[in-house]
Amino acid sequence: MLTCKEFLQELSDFLDESVDGELRTRLEAHISECPNCFVILDTTKRTIQVYQGIDPKPIPQEVHTRLMRAVEKKIAAGGNGQTGTTA
Ligand SMILES: [Zn+2]
Repeated sequence: MLTCKEFLQELSDFLDESVDGELRTRLEAHISECPNCFVILDTTKRTIQVYQGIDPKPIPQEVHTRLMRAVEKKIAAGGNGQTGTTA
């Protein structure tokens, strides 16, 4: 059984599919028994797919500003909206 540290050291090679049979089997065995490393692998895979896929676009400034305003509004309005519930 590999340790998480060992797994993470091999992670990039594993994703490149440049690890050989036995090590690959051990890495796969580790993922099946270690949810943490499975999540790391899954997240890394997705990130790579995003970079390799359609050109990644950052959130436009306008959308970001609108989002922040909406959040601020929510904070200003919400939180203590309950009335009539006295203890
Ligand atoms: Zn692990």
